Amino acid sequence: MNDSVASAAGSRVLQSGQTLFNEGEAADCAYIIESGELTITTHSEGEEVFLCTLRDGDIVGEMGVIDRAPRTATAVASAETSLLVITRNQLTERISEADPILKLLIKILLDRYRSGLSSVKGEMNARPGEELVPADVVAEYVSHGIDKMRLEAELKQALRQRQLQVFYQPLLDVDSRTVAGFEALTRWDHPNRGAISPGLFITLAEETSLIVPVGLYVFEEACNKLMAFDEAEQQHGQGPLFMSINVSARQVADPEFIVQAASLVTNLGLDPARIKLEITEGLSIDIGSTINWINQAHDLGFKVSLDDFGTGYSSLATLHKLPLDTAKIDQAFIRNLEHDARSRELLRGIVNLMRGLGVEIVVEGIETRTHLEFITALDCNLAQGYLIGKPMTASAVTELLVEGPNLTG
Ligand code: C2E
Ligand code: CA
Ligand code: CA
Repeated sequence: MNDSVASAAGSRVLQSGQTLFNEGEAADCAYIIESGELTITTHSEGEEVFLCTLRDGDIVGEMGVIDRAPRTATAVASAETSLLVITRNQLTERISEADPILKLLIKILLDRYRSGLSSVKGEMNARPGEELVPADVVAEYVSHGIDKMRLEAELKQALRQRQLQVFYQPLLDVDSRTVAGFEALTRWDHPNRGAISPGLFITLAEETSLIVPVGLYVFEEACNKLMAFDEAEQQHGQGPLFMSINVSARQVADPEFIVQAASLVTNLGLDPARIKLEITEGLSIDIGSTINWINQAHDLGFKVSLDDFGTGYSSLATLHKLPLDTAKIDQAFIRNLEHDARSRELLRGIVNLMRGLGVEIVVEGIETRTHLEFITALDCNLAQGYLIGKPMTASAVTELLVEGPNLTG
């Protein structure tokens, strides 16, 4: 895990009467109030002027961080106050990637704030804020933004406190009907919000560079568990298991990730050929860079798999250019198999084309015996889905490996 990223975030607790920051100081981070209360004041002609009181859920100190100006006010705790720290990087990363309308909104908010403050201070250059964007739109944007930033700060903490759990979903070798490997799927066991699905927090992590430490954490955890599963597997003798690990576009774009992953595997004494790196085809990376990355992964000994094939922008033309080992057919193609002859034909066509490209074929979303029988007849290599097993804890995997899958769905 990248400590510098994880430790950059954090929380602070102030006792009543303690100062968070003083007017005129350099601004290096902002805060979200988790509990407690802050009194915000400023100075005008030597007099202290009360500006407002901020409470749970409010953000404080963000303005100076955004425009790199010194603090324009003083913040003092008026009760015991607990704060989440938001670093300059978190804010600026967001803003630099925000769409132009959001950037404009931020600018308007900043201008309004500055001019509002000037008028409090009685300065000559005070000008009224222009009502370019309705206040409720601004408020909604701010509250949504704060929610996300809070979640992001919490995700950093979760990483440090090991609240992220990795579950493992079995993949069935279609021929032998034995478990051949697993896919590592991350869960966030949030202390207050309960389990948060990866659909929510992985997207958030991907919007920031947080996906890099999250991804490395999952990678390390999954490799360690694969070594642990070997023991259970050896009693049963199914042959070496593999581990599929999801790698997001941002990790592919980060030259460090693959190198760090390789050194982790070497340190563990794990054969990298047992690791399948699952990438999805995004618009954000060009095909040339993707090909280079796959070649590098191969040089380091990893296998590479294309996830969610058939959705979004992936096409057979692209598939044919990528030096892949495996392609996973998205579960959308399985959903209507039972009732819809055209779905069956579509799947048959895709499988035939993929076979021509010589990739290993995995089918996701296998929920019923009928699904399994259908892809068995099509001679697909691996099956993944609730019929074979849901994502499960590492200890449930050990049991599964000893007992074998129960395919009576
Ligand atoms: P994915 O890689 O396509 O993973 C398969 C998803 O389908 C998982 O959802 C899995 O629980 C679900 N699934 C498996 N079998 C069935 C089935 O038979 N029926 C149905 N309806 N669903 C099934 P999950 O765990 O919620 O993960 C969602 C997505 O989040 C993943 O989709 C993957 O894109 C992403 N994700 C999860 N963990 C990680 C991670 O560690 N790193 C990255 N980059 N992405 C991750
Ligand atoms: Ca996947
Ligand atoms: Ca998938």
